[in-house]
Amino acid sequence: MQSFSNTLFADADSAYLDAEYGIFGVPFDGTTSFKAGTRDAPAAVRQASYNLETYMPYYDLELPDIPFYDMGDLYAECLPDLVVGQVEDVVSDLVKDGKIPVMIGGEHSITIGAVRALRPVWYVVCDAHLDMQDEYRGSRFNHDCVTARVSEVTGNIIIIGARSGCKEEFARARENYHLFTADEVQSRGMQSVLNEVSDLIGDDPVYLSIDADSIDCCLTPGLGTPEPFGLTPADIRDVIRKVAKNAVGFDYVEVLPNDSGQTAIVAAHLIREFIAGHACALKQTD
Ligand code: MN
Ligand code: MN
Repeated sequence: MQSFSNTLFADADSAYLDAEYGIFGVPFDGTTSFKAGTRDAPAAVRQASYNLETYMPYYDLELPDIPFYDMGDLYAECLPDLVVGQVEDVVSDLVKDGKIPVMIGGEHSITIGAVRALRPVWYVVCDAHLDMQDEYRGSRFNHDCVTARVSEVTGNIIIIGARSGCKEEFARARENYHLFTADEVQSRGMQSVLNEVSDLIGDDPVYLSIDADSIDCCLTPGLGTPEPFGLTPADIRDVIRKVAKNAVGFDYVEVLPNDSGQTAIVAAHLIREFIAGHACALKQTD
């Protein structure tokens, strides 16, 4: 039998019933405030995934040996509160079926639905922005309100890579959450930050959300709200390698594929990194 490429994530070859991970895209960018187009990211990230070797040397594994399934793209409604509800439904179904949800955005607001479905003890997010507005441009489900809505589910919030927000947001983040700014990561080193993160989360369930703009826009320019002076792709990989074992859900959001493909290929790599890292951690505890 010849092999075929298709429009689904590369190597997502298992049947739904056998899959331990359920990938789905949410092509929604309805509350975008700067550049629109993150709705095109799920397709771009999947396409980029075909550029990658099946063998992952860090884990010494063949990715297709891990059973995961790509459900395709959610047919998203046009209003953010409705999309958040749709995501909550999909993630609840995946959890009922014993699968770890892996969501490809779309804009960051979709994370709210996943967190509501999973109710993790910790929310760990890499983001240039604090996303702590209670309401923005007429919606409490704007992509600038993600952390504010998540805080209604759990107050245990760790933000890594932030460098943009108003004075009041920074003050509140420092007071209420665990904030590691991009500057702090730069001066301390990511491993030192991650050791602190590990001590905080222990063995608790975590939801891990990667906003693509946590990475410096000079490295991955395909972003709706680009910010310089950020993290590197390797920094995010380190976060995933450290935190994946605790994760009950994962997403990669805010890619805007208007660059030469750098941002989507990094996203494809890091989604695979999550699946492999999580699967290897499970095997070690078996
Ligand atoms: Mn965000
Ligand atoms: Mn952001």
